Amino acid sequence: MENHFPVEKFQAIETPFYYYNMQLLEDTLQVIKEESEKYGYHVHYAVKANANKKILETINSYGLGADCVSGNEVSASIEAGFPGNKVVYAGVGKTDKEIITGLKNNIGCFNVESIPELEVINELAEKQGVVANVALRINPNVKANTHHYITTGLEENKFGIYIWDLEKVMDKIEELDHVNFKGIHFHIGSQINDLDSYKQLCVRVNELQELFKQRRAIPQIVNVGGGLGIDYENPDENPMPDFKAFFKIFDDFLELEEGQEVHFELGRSVVCQCGTLISKVIYVKEGVNTHFAIVDAGMSDLIRPALYQAYHKIENLSSDQEDEKYDVVGPICESSDCFGKAVTLPKTSRGDIIAIRSAGAYGEIMANQYNLRQLPKAFYSSDL
Ligand SMILES: *Cc1c(COP(=O)(O)O)cnc(C)c1O
Repeated sequence: MENHFPVEKFQAIETPFYYYNMQLLEDTLQVIKEESEKYGYHVHYAVKANANKKILETINSYGLGADCVSGNEVSASIEAGFPGNKVVYAGVGKTDKEIITGLKNNIGCFNVESIPELEVINELAEKQGVVANVALRINPNVKANTHHYITTGLEENKFGIYIWDLEKVMDKIEELDHVNFKGIHFHIGSQINDLDSYKQLCVRVNELQELFKQRRAIPQIVNVGGGLGIDYENPDENPMPDFKAFFKIFDDFLELEEGQEVHFELGRSVVCQCGTLISKVIYVKEGVNTHFAIVDAGMSDLIRPALYQAYHKIENLSSDQEDEKYDVVGPICESSDCFGKAVTLPKTSRGDIIAIRSAGAYGEIMANQYNLRQLPKAFYSSDL
């Protein structure tokens, strides 16, 4: 494989660290912008995928909004330059302090998940002397074909308002003076590669729109969430998902009322392929049936394999010898601290540089200090 990483430069940097290909991020943002603008769609970036300041600033420079799931994400978005009215805030457990952060920054919309939350937002907005825009996060009961930990749009999940409660919630909104009904919001899950799930979502949204039409409360915003998947197996062949086909599904199947806006909240598909976790082999150890390549990155730097049994492509950037099989493991005292079993790599030695690919989403942001390890640093192609 042709090597596009600046390996010599990596050798001079203390490992492990995240490396971001900023050109790929910008190319991805450019395609998102072009393909969504065709239909006048609004795209928000789901900050939880990666809240690295430089990445947020780059995303903001392409005109996307920010989709947040905590008060600190709201603050980080504002600090990175996102205008308040382009920030939306979702989450089942917003605290009073977090809601106040949203209100003070005049955010575009709170995506509300329950009646008690609606009442608290109303009360806090009244105290601030403002009216908060709210969208209802509806649990559409659409099954996304993905890992069960990352499906969110099913009745058994904790997220959203059930369809049978909607009338009650709308009655409540009409009673309250400091919330303004702005839209409806859906999010069916993550790492969705089967566009048919989105087609089903469109059909469900169309059905639900009838309910709002009957009440003469037409939502201005129809927010269909995020979740578009990426190709973890072939990051070089498919450096970005088919955004063109993705947005087209909604144009083909969503039936809109006059003046309705369609919003998206893409996280993984924006940032995943631009990030790589770079580490070094500390030891090669002979096991009973396998060789272990013990690297200096661990589950504290990238937890997805341990948490979701997620696959990441692993490459040895230093060797071009004969292929062998290795279990690539980290130094942390947990058996689940393993990046891949029986991975085919060229013959690997102490000091070789190992790239763990497609780590730009839910990588650096999920890093922790277990075993009192240092948090990984980040380096950018534009600076090296
Ligand atoms: C996580 C999340 C997203 C983004 O999901 P991706 O799979 O990263 O695109 C969007 N909206 C909400 C409400 C989320 O919780």
